[in-house]
Amino acid sequence: MEIPVLKAERFEVKARPDFAAKRVTLVFTGTLDESVKLRAVSTYLFNSKGDFAETALDLSGVSAISSAGVREWISLLALVGEAGLRWRFSSLSEIFLERANLFPDLLGRPRAAVSVVAAPYYCAKCDDRPVFEQRIAELRFDGAEPLLPSHSCARCGGKLEFDELASDYFKLFRSS
Ligand SMILES: [Zn+2]
Repeated sequence: MEIPVLKAERFEVKARPDFAAKRVTLVFTGTLDESVKLRAVSTYLFNSKGDFAETALDLSGVSAISSAGVREWISLLALVGEAGLRWRFSSLSEIFLERANLFPDLLGRPRAAVSVVAAPYYCAKCDDRPVFEQRIAELRFDGAEPLLPSHSCARCGGKLEFDELASDYFKLFRSS
């Protein structure tokens, strides 16, 4: 079941409730900018507060965030945090994680748990940039440097390189 929570021109939020498991996943997609007001999201969470023990936020479909969007997002988290709601991030897009590296409050204060983030790789030979899912629980570090799994190019079979500065990209998930 999927419930529309918010629909803007280039942004939408849907709820996928699992009443048996007392869990709801909110799925965010599109461009979060000054045209988006997230009040409908906090209203949905407040109204359904008794139904769910767990709220997951899926941001894998967030393709852009403006500075107004950053402010709007941080005030949403502050509002639902003050109301005593707890959440975790089931998935983050590359854009969202890059923004969170600049503004860590995007992940809540105190920071909420993150399950999966987008991990972009690159094949220089094919000029291809496939994006994989990296589970944070499986991420290990050697100092500041994350030990990333190796992936092969689906076209040429060659070894893919991680396409960001890995120590910066994953810096929020270092254990120390
Ligand atoms: Zn290739």
